[in-house]
Amino acid sequence: MIYMDYNATTPVHPEVLEAFLPFYRHHFGNPSSIHWAGRPAKGAVEAAREQVAALVHCDPAEVVFTSCGSEADNLALKGVAAAQRHRGKQIITTSVEHPAVLNTCLYLEREGYEITRLEVDRDGMLDLDRLEAAITGQTILISAMYANNETGTIFPVREIGAIAARHRVYFHCDAVQAAGRLPIDCREQQIGLLALSGHKLQAPKGVGALIVRKGVKLHPLLHGGSQERNRRAGTENVAGIVGFGKACEIARGSMVSEAERLQGLRDRLQDGILANVANVQVHGHPAWRLPNTLNLSFLGVEADSLLLNLDLQGIAVSSGSACSSGTLKSSPVLAAMGVAPAVAKGSLRFSLGRENSEAEVDHVLQVLPGIVERLRGV
Ligand SMILES: *Cc1c(COP(=O)(O)O)cnc(C)c1O
Repeated sequence: MIYMDYNATTPVHPEVLEAFLPFYRHHFGNPSSIHWAGRPAKGAVEAAREQVAALVHCDPAEVVFTSCGSEADNLALKGVAAAQRHRGKQIITTSVEHPAVLNTCLYLEREGYEITRLEVDRDGMLDLDRLEAAITGQTILISAMYANNETGTIFPVREIGAIAARHRVYFHCDAVQAAGRLPIDCREQQIGLLALSGHKLQAPKGVGALIVRKGVKLHPLLHGGSQERNRRAGTENVAGIVGFGKACEIARGSMVSEAERLQGLRDRLQDGILANVANVQVHGHPAWRLPNTLNLSFLGVEADSLLLNLDLQGIAVSSGSACSSGTLKSSPVLAAMGVAPAVAKGSLRFSLGRENSEAEVDHVLQVLPGIVERLRGV
């Protein structure tokens, strides 16, 4: 079995599993309890907070644990919108955001906010001049992702942060795909809010975080107890948080070498496909792209047929984004990049990770051309 769908989710790292299992087996206490059962849980949550903060360069007190990346995006957008509505009602975002941002913005639009969606070019890249020109006296927030989940295109986050700071507008960055793959520095990049998700970086599902920098005002989504400094009520997912912290620590140590290794594998896969299959189009920026991601269209082929045929060979990849599969609509991200629907229909995403090897890439290169040829024949 070959798994090349790491942008959809990742297997839990064995050391992460070891780190969090004791919090199911023994340390069951509630972190809010001050007795012997609660104290180890509280200590572990605070240690994990430091590990997460160290990965993205912020203060541990700025980490708000959530249930997933989607909740972090919702908290950032709805939380800021509610807290800042007296200042203005305009939110600037991009046309290629993850549904967690896209659909939250649609919701806010129905609630009376003005959403400005910036276009991207053929590589999925944002134009900074257009971003700056879109800012008005009514702008309260810029929401732009760090790296795209479908194509891997990386936005110029440092420059976006500088523009936001210059105009005194909050900057929310969905860094779910970038965290653990690219260096992130909330301080240097002037990021006000940053969304993270555990299961995209080898931690378990059901945990995420929103970094809320000091001075950023937002209303909570969940009201209740005073957990997470009143920014997210609810008893903490202690084991998940512990695993998330451990995964961040592992990523911090291995990110640079792993990115280099994965880029080597990704480029081998891309070059091999381009050399052996005709009429293929690569999507995403040629240089500013996540090292593990390869999105390409096989012209004249239905991506889902290709996906199912690869699945029969034990190879797991994705067509469009996992979040929009099950529907026959082609990817809004590729559409925003100006990719024709007929081309987008044949788009497949390979996203690599820790367990992939050169032998696996070569195996894919062995079986893929034959499948494409067969599908093009029918
Ligand atoms: C997966 C993903 C999310 C959502 O994270 P969940 O933890 O699955 O809710 C948000 N943004 C991006 C870019 C993603 O890839």
